Amino acid sequence: SRKWARAMAILREFEENCGTPIGKLRQVADAMTVEMHAGLASEGGSKLKMLISYVDNLGDSISLFKHISKQFLACIEWKDSARDEKGLFYALDLGGTNFRVIRVLLGGKHGGVVKQEFEEVSIPPHLMTGSSDALFDYIAAALARFVATEGEVGQDVVGELTKAMERIGLDMCVSALVNDTVGTLAGGRFYNPDVIAAVILGTGTNAAYVERAHAIPKWHGLLPNSGEMVINMEWGNFRSSHLPLTEYDQDLDAESLNPGEQIFEKIISGMYLGEEIIPFILRTPNMSAMHHDTSSDLRVVGSKLKDILEIPSTSLKMRKAIVELCDIVATRGARLSAAGIVGILKKLERDTVKDGEKQKPVVALDGGLYEHYSKFSTCMESALKELLREEVSDNIVIEHSNDGSGIGAALLAASHSQYL
Ligand code: ADP
Ligand code: MG
Repeated sequence: SRKWARAMAILREFEENCGTPIGKLRQVADAMTVEMHAGLASEGGSKLKMLISYVDNLGDSISLFKHISKQFLACIEWKDSARDEKGLFYALDLGGTNFRVIRVLLGGKHGGVVKQEFEEVSIPPHLMTGSSDALFDYIAAALARFVATEGEVGQDVVGELTKAMERIGLDMCVSALVNDTVGTLAGGRFYNPDVIAAVILGTGTNAAYVERAHAIPKWHGLLPNSGEMVINMEWGNFRSSHLPLTEYDQDLDAESLNPGEQIFEKIISGMYLGEEIIPFILRTPNMSAMHHDTSSDLRVVGSKLKDILEIPSTSLKMRKAIVELCDIVATRGARLSAAGIVGILKKLERDTVKDGEKQKPVVALDGGLYEHYSKFSTCMESALKELLREEVSDNIVIEHSNDGSGIGAALLAASHSQYL
């Protein structure tokens, strides 16, 4: 029919406007590198805030954390239990939709993570927009419930001691507040010292990496002993004329809570991906379910369209078109994330070459989108390979940092307590 032909023409045009050929990805990567330099040169010098997150060694003795964004991790420790990064620690991870309480048992300097448990609680939307008192009451109640479930520490001395402390009354204090991306970086580095950057692909998206202190012109303070600092890029706010933006992206942005801001995030992250396809109705997990539908009659797509859009029956060709739409949007997001990572690697490479050092970079990735949307993560990883093929020296490793942010936060709580 003519209507169908028109719909297909729109789909083709959309596909073309969302295109991310390799040349465009290179331009985006280069633009990311340029913005990184600008953001490090001066405060407000770029759309990228390039926040200096802390000073001192990562993993060993972290002494100072500042700059907290909306997403945060609170490290809560048992009073007096934290000597030599040993003991039971709690971390709170507040994201865009979920809130996690994490319990980590650290076995001391060389003992690593002995045990790790977490509970995920979804945050009712009215609490995210309501008063902070109500939100924190909710968080505290969830934490108290989680703490009360403790009791599987076994014969471990630290655990027994902790239980005894619990018996005489819960005595805890918040020791640090950490950005979730920085927490992921700290956690990733705990397991693998070659981790140089962390990227979160969840409800939102962000990246953090380890920078040489001398490469941060806007830093006028004392140079840390390690010579390194962590930069929380806040890369969700990146924008560039090279980004493939369509009229649909402009509409989505205009109707968002923060028009003109977080443009990179709006074409990449889980909060917006689904909306790109059917504004306000389709959540990314549903998009992902349709995209991964392998049945010959695309019955998952059919049932989602029925449930979500209340279209009782759909033709196979319409279902196929929907899958194609999911593919276009996910592919663009995944390939642009890869370009962003390459931007970071390029920024570091230049400095690395200058210092005559060689490093095999490992990037820690985490977040619900990366973890659960396998077509997205697969596409991102192959785009990375494609982009790095020509760079002779680069041999990048991608690691899934499972709950790395929680472990990172617990580590920070532990090391922080040494200064109490
Ligand atoms: P945050 O910490 O910001 O709340 P998470 O890392 O917990 O984010 O990831 C949650 C996000 O991951 C959801 O908002 C959603 O966009 C995405 N997500 C969760 N499950 C899936 C899925 N099955 N497929 C695709 N995306 C998913
Ligand atoms: Mg999170």
